[in-house]
Amino acid sequence: MMVSKHPPIPFNAPSVEGRELDHIRTAIEEGKTASGGPFAARVASLLEEESGAAGALLTTSCTDALEMTSLLLDLHPGDTVIVPSFTFVSSALAYVRAGARIVYCDIEPATLGLDPRHVAELLDDSVRAVVVVHYAGVACDMDGLREVLRDRPDVTVIEDNAHGLFGRWRGQPLGSLGRFATLSFHDTKNFTCGEGGALLVNNPDDLPRSWVVYDKGTDRQAFLRGMIDKYSWRDIGSSFGLSDVLAAYLYGQLEQSEIIQAKRRAVYERYTLALAPHADELDFQLPVVPDHCEPAYHLFHMLLSDHDTRTRVMDDLRREGIHTTFHYVPLHSSDAGRKYAARDDDCPVTDDLSGRLLRLPFYNNLTEGETDRVVDALVRSLKDTSAKD
Ligand SMILES: *Cc1c(COP(=O)(O)O)cnc(C)c1O
Repeated sequence: MMVSKHPPIPFNAPSVEGRELDHIRTAIEEGKTASGGPFAARVASLLEEESGAAGALLTTSCTDALEMTSLLLDLHPGDTVIVPSFTFVSSALAYVRAGARIVYCDIEPATLGLDPRHVAELLDDSVRAVVVVHYAGVACDMDGLREVLRDRPDVTVIEDNAHGLFGRWRGQPLGSLGRFATLSFHDTKNFTCGEGGALLVNNPDDLPRSWVVYDKGTDRQAFLRGMIDKYSWRDIGSSFGLSDVLAAYLYGQLEQSEIIQAKRRAVYERYTLALAPHADELDFQLPVVPDHCEPAYHLFHMLLSDHDTRTRVMDDLRREGIHTTFHYVPLHSSDAGRKYAARDDDCPVTDDLSGRLLRLPFYNNLTEGETDRVVDALVRSLKDTSAKD
């Protein structure tokens, strides 16, 4: 086995980018560590300013924020939610917990976002919501989706925007395109506090009830804002709030948003520039960014010719200390995915692309020397592969 003389290149490496540690210390020293503290307020203002949302509610995860949307929709058994099969489990899990069944939608091969033509085929009276994912931080086909839903104002659009903070579609922020949007601050995302998330509430009419669901079904948030003089149990809900220690961490990251996004963009562009000349010869496809989309630079993926090539490439790179990975295992073919499906639907594009999609190491401080090493190793491996064919 060839042993690399270089230090390993991990797939992801979260980093301290600004005043995170100072802020965490402040939160603890000032004794405001529960949810709804001063750092949460600052983060919420930043997120509201960026997205134009009526409210940004910090949650313990994106999964939690999705569960909030599920409670806010008052789903009943018999209801269904359309979810792309090519996404993380949480996009479906949140609705299953409320008793709904999932209708799996295929993706279109350019953006890997849901395919509106398939949504049109799947729409029936049971559908209460459609979840969209802006894969890698590039908007899905929102024009197509809006056209399909034109006569269905009763169907709520929810953006699982875990990848898309600071991305744009036709100049509008990702996260502002649905009635609700959710964000993730897990340590695999562009901005992190370890574990965290947010619910963006885009319609001000949804805000009062969102705050109740957020705070254990009580109107305590209205009480804390001085809007009422005592609080009590009003509705369903749970304990969704993020500790202010973590909000402090997150605030330190978001203060550096321009720098972080510029670093990620630079990594993305280095990969693109170095790989593009080899795409035809070595039979792979780089990410597609439609003209009207500004990416959020969440990840760098490429489509290889087939599944076996991907397996070989990942093994080759691992031997050189370079950690690449695939992505979602299609939900429609997973055990629980099948169990909670409304019916049996095929998602052939998802099946095909998920088997040959490769993600390269991608994080803020990945150096030029490191991206060069990744590209060299990748090109060598693919040349070996085509030589063997
Ligand atoms: C990361 C991710 C989630 C889950 O986020 P958590 O904050 O870990 O709950 C959900 N959906 C998508 C598309 C994700 O990438």
